[in-house]
Amino acid sequence: MYASIPITRAETLKEHPRDDELSFGEIFTDHMLLMDYNLADGWNNPRIEPYQAIALEPAATILHYAQAVFEGLKAFRTTDGRITLFRPREYMQRLTRSCERLCIPLLEPDLALHCIMELVKLESSWVPSSFGTSLYVRPFIIATDNHLGVRPSETYRFMIILSPVGAYYAEGFNPVSITVSDEFVRAVKGGTGDAKTPGNYAASLLASAQAKKEGYAQVLWLDGRERKYVDEVGTMNIFFVIDSALITPPLGGAILDGVTRKSVIQLAQEWGMPVKERMVSIDEVMEAGQSGALTEVFGSGTAAVVSPVGKLHYKGTVLAINDGKVGEFSQRLFEEITSIQYGKIPDRLGWNLEVC
Ligand SMILES: *Cc1c(COP(=O)(O)O)cnc(C)c1O
Repeated sequence: MYASIPITRAETLKEHPRDDELSFGEIFTDHMLLMDYNLADGWNNPRIEPYQAIALEPAATILHYAQAVFEGLKAFRTTDGRITLFRPREYMQRLTRSCERLCIPLLEPDLALHCIMELVKLESSWVPSSFGTSLYVRPFIIATDNHLGVRPSETYRFMIILSPVGAYYAEGFNPVSITVSDEFVRAVKGGTGDAKTPGNYAASLLASAQAKKEGYAQVLWLDGRERKYVDEVGTMNIFFVIDSALITPPLGGAILDGVTRKSVIQLAQEWGMPVKERMVSIDEVMEAGQSGALTEVFGSGTAAVVSPVGKLHYKGTVLAINDGKVGEFSQRLFEEITSIQYGKIPDRLGWNLEVC
């Protein structure tokens, strides 16, 4: 349906690292994809070039006002040697929703996906094969006008870069400790919390740094208005198992519509577990923790899939969740989702798109 994309090949190819040397986002493949936008031509000139530095005007809008969006998804090498993308259409639809919020001209999800497919096909030798490893795909759009006024840019650049990433749980599937931030908030309804846009992440850094200093891996974010209801954890969606029901905050403005979140909900429903998308206050969580009704807490996101929480700190009280061990449901979810991703079990929900 779309024309094939012209390729300028890199003159020298990089050496591929071993699977056990991979971490997250440190190395990039030989090529990247670029496409431009201007008012006259719309999105135009998709092309694949060697991975390299880009030139920007010092007054480029992105550098001053953060008009940009991004995505993060993964390509896997399945146990039978195919290369697949996990639910890529969901990520591309979210990219267009983020564009809308940031006044960026919409990029057709199908065209964005076509660009990903062409680039991943070219770079398929970079998809690692060990369990837990993958090729992380980072599409993003930046505003490129050479202009200092605060207004939507009239020119943009879409790019895709690829990074082979290591197993998130190289040291084992271990629960993390998290702490509630009383001082800072990540997002408020009406803000940009439901868009994947760089400013949200810049705004979260100080709270994360403070949490790390206190020995916690992630920040548990409360809602920005009342500081009462749980929103997200770090850059992940959050789930609680209370009285054997799965509870997660509802979409609706301040949290990101995670693809992993959606997958977790679908599986829980398939397995017959009651799922409630509703507001959950930090007081309810602490009480359920003390009464024993709270049996599991975990984050969900593309990088980790599922990240169990073993310890939760709020206002001087520390809850140990499930004795600091991985819960049964978290374990089952992690195994099910990764088994689908690596083609160890049939893709009954149609989540994998074959690239080659
Ligand atoms: C990306 C992201 C998530 C998780 O979304 P996935 O689609 O599951 O990767 C959750 N919260 C925030 C703030 C994010 O940026």
